[in-house]
Amino acid sequence: MSEALTIPAPELDDLSRPFWDALKQGRLTFQRCTACGHAWLPARSDCPRCLAPDWQRQDAKGGATLVSWVVYRMAYHPAFESRLPYTVATVQLDEGPRMISNIVGAQPSQLRIEQRLRLRIEAEADFMVPRFTPT
Ligand SMILES: [Zn+2]
Repeated sequence: MSEALTIPAPELDDLSRPFWDALKQGRLTFQRCTACGHAWLPARSDCPRCLAPDWQRQDAKGGATLVSWVVYRMAYHPAFESRLPYTVATVQLDEGPRMISNIVGAQPSQLRIEQRLRLRIEAEADFMVPRFTPT
């Protein structure tokens, strides 16, 4: 497959667009409920804990912890063939939200549960994606 293939672009709507726009400015953002303080990703209109519709968007500082991961050795989209093997992980931001991301800059055998990670925003075609690397 061609190196020019790009990964699928995110689907943008009024809720998710600010997340992707902030990444272009080098910021990873999440929502925090103004009623109960819960913080979450990905974007949604109401707090997943108390269902309040009132929240603020906040910047993550970039620190995170590795919760779990899998190593993909097979491409489920042609654009990923040249990246094999790659790691898909659940990471927990220091501010609380969990998100699905990639671990870069480390071999899968080097990864450990609760390992400290640092945000690394990387370019993909017309958008920027939040990935993480061990500290
Ligand atoms: Zn809430």
